[in-house]
Amino acid sequence: MSCYKTLLLDAAVLPLQDTKMDHQSILIIAAHPDDIDFRSSGSAALWTRQGRRVAYVVATSGEKGFNGNGKLSIEERQAIREGEQRAAAAAAGVEQVHFLKHPDGELANTPELRRDLVRVMRQVKPDLIVSGDPSLDAYDSFYGYHSDHRAIAQATFDALYPAVGNENFFPELLKEGLEPHRPKEAYFSGRGATLNVWVDIAETFEAKLRALACHKSQIADIKEIEPRLREWSREMGKEKGLACAECYRRLEIPD
Ligand SMILES: [Zn+2]
Repeated sequence: MSCYKTLLLDAAVLPLQDTKMDHQSILIIAAHPDDIDFRSSGSAALWTRQGRRVAYVVATSGEKGFNGNGKLSIEERQAIREGEQRAAAAAAGVEQVHFLKHPDGELANTPELRRDLVRVMRQVKPDLIVSGDPSLDAYDSFYGYHSDHRAIAQATFDALYPAVGNENFFPELLKEGLEPHRPKEAYFSGRGATLNVWVDIAETFEAKLRALACHKSQIADIKEIEPRLREWSREMGKEKGLACAECYRRLEIPD
């Protein structure tokens, strides 16, 4: 699906508190190509510049997020959007993008989706997982509360505990050589009073723009939306005196 209007509409005034982040391996999860770039590509670019390993998981390949491209097959649309997402990842210094290939617009918090998430988590062995926030339920924006966004946020939360660290979940993964792994923390991106992590993206905002500009099938001209992106980032950082920020709700993952 096409998501860029979502996050622009969801720009909000946000509260406070900083964190020191010492995780070396980070996995960022979203439903569609471009979701990560709107929410977290400034953070991803900062973390890769700091020498941390960052990988992306994109659950669908966004084949329904096209207007007026009826002549393209599903496979062609998937290939376009996957290519855009890979280029966008590269703009943030991210080399690994895992596409789960679930049908766009039909994502559901099923055992299959949780298994596929657990598989990548056990392959990548991240300390930190970044995703959308399953606790948000305002339903004040059709874009923001798209069913795929709700489903991937819930499935990620459920995969994190206890499935990824418990060998009795998805025993078929053991046969693939994938042992249980426990990430230490989750950052849920969103808005509202529960946010407690501010990432200063002043030095990577340009990389974020370059990443978003890669989604050519979604964003005809990055210059057109750049002022709103700047304003959104400024609003996010305002309470902490940051010119540009991406924000999250941090949650420790129990052993
Ligand atoms: Zn989306």
